[in-house]
Amino acid sequence: MKTADDLGLLLERLARVLQNEAHAEGLKPTQWEALRYLSRANRFSRTPSGVTAYLGMTKGTVSQTLNALERKGLIGKRSDPQDRRQVALTLTAKGRRLLARDPIEALLRGTANLSAAQKETLTGGLHRLLAETLRRRGSRPFGLCRTCRHFSAGDPTGSPHRCRLLEVPLTEEDGGLICAEQEAA
Ligand code: SF4
Repeated sequence: MKTADDLGLLLERLARVLQNEAHAEGLKPTQWEALRYLSRANRFSRTPSGVTAYLGMTKGTVSQTLNALERKGLIGKRSDPQDRRQVALTLTAKGRRLLARDPIEALLRGTANLSAAQKETLTGGLHRLLAETLRRRGSRPFGLCRTCRHFSAGDPTGSPHRCRLLEVPLTEEDGGLICAEQEAA
């Protein structure tokens, strides 16, 4: 079998295992994905439109997903004080506790036996594959803030960093979160 076919088969089977295992704790795979996104996204991206763009799903499906998570007490919704038409999403304490039992962790435990070099190669290769796939679909990359071309070290207000696109100060934590507006440096 050609290497490309082999890789495609492996990715398909891994995705299938993940999908099957993600029916856990009474949540559907999409609900887990939305929770994971909200735990990693910065404050500018924790919105219904951010979740929709990240998951690549229809607004209706994402709306149902977010309503289900809210009913379960895993997320909260409030009007954005800067823009009342926008809804800001937050993970509740219950949502954070549930994420500590994320079924994806079982899969990741399988990487414990890989060497550091193998993990680095695997991560780098998957990153490139994902970036290329998203580029072809015209989807946003949602990369890390500190790798964005608008990220600037230092800020006149004394904050560690600054976003030159949104003209706001950024914390160290912000630098390690993903953003809907991120553009690779
Ligand atoms: S620097 Fe880039 S990634 Fe960070 S908040 Fe600004 S636009 Fe988003």
